[in-house]
Amino acid sequence: MAAQTALLAAAADRATRELWEARALALAGSRHVDGTACLTRENAAMRVYWTPNGDRRGTGYVVVVFPVTRHIVCPCPAGAFGKPCAHAGAVIHAERQRAYAESHPDTDVLASWRRGFDW
Ligand SMILES: [Zn+2]
Repeated sequence: MAAQTALLAAAADRATRELWEARALALAGSRHVDGTACLTRENAAMRVYWTPNGDRRGTGYVVVVFPVTRHIVCPCPAGAFGKPCAHAGAVIHAERQRAYAESHPDTDVLASWRRGFDW
């Protein structure tokens, strides 16, 4: 019974997490900040991104990703309360691009030559 309850709780957490990420991605798309997250620092425990504000004013936000727990921490007014925000969406977009690139390595030895040595 306890194991079943734990499984149900884990499924609920996963569904909530997916909804949170979907909302953050939607916000990033609506504010045109997807594709703007810039990885500034990383180590085994965390990756630090910079994202601009949706209106491109101010200095933007520093968003921290904890890959092990998949937690994303943004200091903006929404993120400070744990709500999905466009900055987190931009970082989720960047993380997904990173995961795709890592899972699809460029193994074609002539690919760089075909691109004119343009990386
Ligand atoms: Zn934010």
